[in-house]
Amino acid sequence: MAKRVAIIGGGSSGLCAIKACLQEGLEPVCFERSRDIGGLWRFEENPEDGRASIYRSVIINTSKEMMCFSDFPIPEDFPNYMHNSKIMEYFRMYAQHFDLLRHIRFRTSVDYIPYMDELACQLGVKPNLLTLFLTDPRLALEVAFGPCTPYQYRLRGPGAWAGAREAILTQQQRIIKPLQTRHVEERPSALAVPLIFKVVGAVAILAAVFAYF
Ligand SMILES: Cc1cc2nc3c(=O)[nH]c(=O)nc-3n(C[C@H](O)[C@H](O)[C@H](O)COP(=O)(O)OP(=O)(O)OC[C@H]3O[C@@H](n4cnc5c(N)ncnc54)[C@H](O)[C@@H]3O)c2cc1C
Repeated sequence: MAKRVAIIGGGSSGLCAIKACLQEGLEPVCFERSRDIGGLWRFEENPEDGRASIYRSVIINTSKEMMCFSDFPIPEDFPNYMHNSKIMEYFRMYAQHFDLLRHIRFRTSVDYIPYMDELACQLGVKPNLLTLFLTDPRLALEVAFGPCTPYQYRLRGPGAWAGAREAILTQQQRIIKPLQTRHVEERPSALAVPLIFKVVGAVAILAAVFAYF
């Protein structure tokens, strides 16, 4: 019997989670608290309680090639940076193409899941901080006090990744790097007027003014 998987929310993340589960032979059940798919991309004139929503005129700020689901390109004739209504159209096409709607229970809200740690514990991927402090204090400090990033759940258990330690220890640098200002060499502007011409010009203007009065 296929394993059942609960998916919370029928926004873009929920839709592709349903599809991925189906591909793996799992049985997804998606719980969506509102009456429709799309999450924040479904614009409603009157905001729904508890659902974030875009405003009427929002246009995507990542290109359609970046924003599309990797196995379902946004149609060629859709603009690169499109209005939110076109993105909703695309989500509906995706849901229809992979027959996802029948796995969604609309108007069903799921209670708050306290924290990622609870799931991580159940899966056996939660880092053991005490052991880490004894064996690798530098890493332990970063896990305990650094930003909570997904790599820390790849240190052990199923899906353990050899690069996880390095990724955790270098995450701050990777965040900062693109924000650093670049060193730009100053080049003399081709339009700049040489100083000698400026001085001569100023003298000529002064001479003309004195000659006139
Ligand atoms: C103004 C704005 C502009 C953006 N522009 C872009 C962009 O151009 N490109 C881009 O890629 N990303 C953009 N984003 C990021 C956007 O968050 C993602 O594109 C996408 O909407 C995230 O999808 P999601 O499914 O994770 O969350 P959401 O779209 O928020 O969907 C969450 C869904 O879960 C449901 N839900 C929540 N809690 C529960 C519960 N307890 N029980 C049941 N259902 C629940 C909600 O009703 C909702 O349908 C933008 C975000 C904003 C706010």
